[in-house]
Amino acid sequence: EKYTEGLKKSRSGFSEKMNNLFARYRKIDEDFFEELEEILIGADVGFDTVMELIDELKMEVKRKNTSEPEAIRDIMTEKFVEIYAGEEKEEMSSELNIQEDLTVILFVGVNGVGKTTTIGKLAHQFKSEGKKVMMAAGDTFRAGAIDQLEEWGRRTGVDVIKQAEGSDPAAVMYDAVRAAKSRGADILLCDTAGRLQNKVNLMNELQKVKRVIEREIPAAPHEVLLVVDATTGQNALIQAKTFKEATDVSGLVLTKLDGTAKGGIVLAIRKELGVPVKFVGLGEKMDDLQPFDAEKYAYGLFA
Ligand code: GDP
Repeated sequence: EKYTEGLKKSRSGFSEKMNNLFARYRKIDEDFFEELEEILIGADVGFDTVMELIDELKMEVKRKNTSEPEAIRDIMTEKFVEIYAGEEKEEMSSELNIQEDLTVILFVGVNGVGKTTTIGKLAHQFKSEGKKVMMAAGDTFRAGAIDQLEEWGRRTGVDVIKQAEGSDPAAVMYDAVRAAKSRGADILLCDTAGRLQNKVNLMNELQKVKRVIEREIPAAPHEVLLVVDATTGQNALIQAKTFKEATDVSGLVLTKLDGTAKGGIVLAIRKELGVPVKFVGLGEKMDDLQPFDAEKYAYGLFA
């Protein structure tokens, strides 16, 4: 329901275009497929994936011997899930690597994509599950980032470990991990700076932060979640590639899907990176973050 609602908010959205297409065609023909192709490309599914999807749709339509446009919805949903899950179904699971004791989750991504907001939303979710949550204000670079995280801390009732703006992020992480251990926290959510100067600097900065965490807890960080803004389309894909080359990314958070017709980016990311999408952001409010579920997501898109 959240998916259907969240993905439908935008009036110029993908669902609207799909509905419009279905309303105009009584039966499936070449023109129908051509328009569908255009919509999918416009939704950032990615050219190769669109071609694959259209070919498979045509085959299924033939096999099922249907010319009803509505039948396409179900088939598309099935194909979407198939393409997403692929052969590596297990690895593409959205489940987080949660530990018995402390789980450390590092968030990376460029400024403005929704990192801080996602951390706040997750803090709220974990807290409602009865977990003891803490946050680390590792973005010491962006003006206001620390305040913003503290605001989320107040809103969710979660402690934030911070230092002054401009201080060393690795020092903040050191403090945060020590504090989380000594206070018996279950989850530590770590913000990082979103500077994407060049790959080498990015790599060094993230490596340093990770090393500090690792020194305190050998298997940590247990998740490195890359946050990308779905509205930026192909740019999101390029960013994701850069980050993946700079550090081990265990999963993606795709934000702002409520405000875009580009929900197809999920498939493009899956094809290009092979990294599971773990969460999707469907709004600015505290509970507008959903675990990614390919089937629900596809239903939300095509419904
Ligand atoms: P950061 O610089 O990566 O930490 O980004 P912020 O968390 O400050 O988010 C930037 C803006 O995007 C803020 O105005 C957020 O409210 C907004 N935002 C974040 N996630 C979502 C989302 O899923 N949907 C919408 N509509 N807005 C979002």
